[in-house]
Amino acid sequence: MLGLDKTGWIEKPRPTCGPLDAIVRPLALAPCTSDIHTVWEGAIGDRHNLVLGHEGVGEVVEVGDMVKVFKPGDRVIMPAITPDWGSLEAQSGYSVHSGGMLGGWKFSNSKDGVFAEFIHINEADANLALLPDGIEPETGAMLSDMVPTGLHGSELAGVKYGDDVCVIGIGPVGLMAVRGAVLRGAANLFAVGTRPNCVQVARSFGATDIISYKEGPLHDQILDRTNGKGVDRVIIAGGDNDTFDTAIRMLKPGGAIGNINYLGSGDYIKIPREAWGVGMGHKTIHGGLMPGGRLRMEKLAQLVLTGRVDPSQLITHRFEGLEHVEDAVMLMKDKPADLIKPVVSIRY
Ligand code: NAD
Ligand code: ZN
Repeated sequence: MLGLDKTGWIEKPRPTCGPLDAIVRPLALAPCTSDIHTVWEGAIGDRHNLVLGHEGVGEVVEVGDMVKVFKPGDRVIMPAITPDWGSLEAQSGYSVHSGGMLGGWKFSNSKDGVFAEFIHINEADANLALLPDGIEPETGAMLSDMVPTGLHGSELAGVKYGDDVCVIGIGPVGLMAVRGAVLRGAANLFAVGTRPNCVQVARSFGATDIISYKEGPLHDQILDRTNGKGVDRVIIAGGDNDTFDTAIRMLKPGGAIGNINYLGSGDYIKIPREAWGVGMGHKTIHGGLMPGGRLRMEKLAQLVLTGRVDPSQLITHRFEGLEHVEDAVMLMKDKPADLIKPVVSIRY
């Protein structure tokens, strides 16, 4: 990111490795819709000469003196979120907010991201995860952000056995949210989306009903299909600030919304007063960024290894060579109808 609305290549010095850190070279990289919000919506403010990217798998090329778990040659998942684990926020259970709100989101935000020849990883033992043999790097790259973020959506919404769940937005994040909700025990799962590729993957991940926002207000459609009762949980993985309005309207009293959507513009979100029980409806909103951490990341990798989560179904476009990162980013920006997720492989 050279500046707002502007991307290109730049030369930077090779990052240096502190005692707890690692330096990684990329094997597979993927752009995120968040990179698009950051550059073309200015969603986190202006940034100059910032390396984009926070999704990828790589090979460790150097480790600091105090790193115990990883060594050069290891294939690792680089999580999008790389907190400071000694911070008070991490100790209070909110690693992602280490050092201040969203402070654990460093790559392509407060420090250079992963679209580079060499990538600096802070607190390598706590933040990296070994990529198991049996997961190809391209699929592994979906473990940086898509799998943990989507699955976190179902945690934020608190999905329980037998819950009826609606997932709004079935891009790659929402599709992973569908899978997460199914694994946590959803009964009827309403997935909101229209693109044929996404609809097909949503069904394969366990969606029972597909809802099109082109066919009228979402809450009316959900209320129609649930005898006027609504759903227990809503996971928001697409849309805008007004999506909270429809989500509150389709939610049962006592229900919860898990938001993992990155709200790129506007100042306020909309909550309808009456449908929110005039303030007393016990309809909760949890919005969050995934926590990161080696333990979580290695567990999620086991879900992929055991076949319970198959993020390879997200990959619709493949490129070879670091120089094609730019094409992948532009594809993510333009969002052709057949796109779910592009991935770039790098061979040495
Ligand atoms: P995407 O654009 O591929 O998918 C979003 C989907 O929502 C699309 O299919 C779109 O058609 C649909 N949509 C748009 N408007 C809608 C509406 N009004 N109602 C219903 N559906 C609507 O994006 P993605 O890559 O899946 O990412 C989803 C969001 O998650 C983005 O905002 C991204 O920045 C964010 N994100 C958050 C985190 C996190 O940690 N919280 C991590 C990664 C991505
Ligand atoms: Zn992301």
